[in-house]
Amino acid sequence: MKRIFIVHTGGTISMKEDESGAVKPDETHPLHDALPSVSSLADIDVEQLFHLPSPHMTPEHMLKLRNYIQQKVREKQFDGVVITHGTDTLEETAYFLDLTVQCDVPIVVTGAMRSSNEIGADGLYNLISSVKVAASEEARGKGVLVVLNDEIHTAKNVTKTHTSNVATFQSPQYGPIGIVTKRGVFFHHAPTKRTTYPISSLSKNVLLLKAYAGMDDAIFHAVRTLKPDGVVIEALGQGNLPPKAAKGVKTLLDDGIPVVLVSRCFNGIVQDIYGYEGGGKQLKEMGVIFSNGLNGQKARIKLLVALEQTNDFEQLQQIFLE
Ligand code: ASP
Repeated sequence: MKRIFIVHTGGTISMKEDESGAVKPDETHPLHDALPSVSSLADIDVEQLFHLPSPHMTPEHMLKLRNYIQQKVREKQFDGVVITHGTDTLEETAYFLDLTVQCDVPIVVTGAMRSSNEIGADGLYNLISSVKVAASEEARGKGVLVVLNDEIHTAKNVTKTHTSNVATFQSPQYGPIGIVTKRGVFFHHAPTKRTTYPISSLSKNVLLLKAYAGMDDAIFHAVRTLKPDGVVIEALGQGNLPPKAAKGVKTLLDDGIPVVLVSRCFNGIVQDIYGYEGGGKQLKEMGVIFSNGLNGQKARIKLLVALEQTNDFEQLQQIFLE
């Protein structure tokens, strides 16, 4: 039997609904009694590292989780890891682990949209599916995976698309790379490449802004006073900004602050196509770094990680092409 390590970090999967309808953390983890349901699938060890709603999750928690699972896998030779997590920031933690974990056993992140005592609770079901995936030989070498609602997604492409539906996790443009059924785990695609960054600290401050029609430079002046180490902008369409916003970006670049561009469209990648004022061509010439299809919250995680290695604009651009 494969040896699988389950790490709980909190989220709805660890919560209960009370008589007033409020969903909140419970003293004892509701999956505490779940062992019999998964012990026929693998030899299981369980630990609770955090008990946090995922809006309370920070990059420091993510780094602690990364170090913790690496140490446990090294010491106890686990064959796979399953992490339970709140769904709100699940994609950020999963992508951070995908960028930074150095061991090659399958790592699966899961959660639930309904708390443990609600009708149709999906927590235990998702946990069982995730253990099956983590114990599967085929899950090796595919990077960190996100498993919910019978689907297997890459941490890089998956995003939470619905506030409450159990089918919330989707990979726009790419789709899942596999499915989980009663009979087994079936992969139908494999990611082409994965680059990891062996960071040991996360010390930078990266902000995320969203562009909109009529955006001017005011917010960029405010941001400058905060002296961030980097800024990610969810730009319009293929990577364009309103003219005054582009002027604001220039002031950040002049201060030596790297600016990474993604699109607020959830399909496609940003490119230097348009030659008008604020268009992608002008932004690229200014020194803006173009990302390769990540959404804003994941580009922010990548910039946090990349800035631990370099703040050279050209090297950062290379990293954002990987
Ligand atoms: N707000 C909850 C959290 O992210 C939602 C969930 O877990 O699904 O912790």
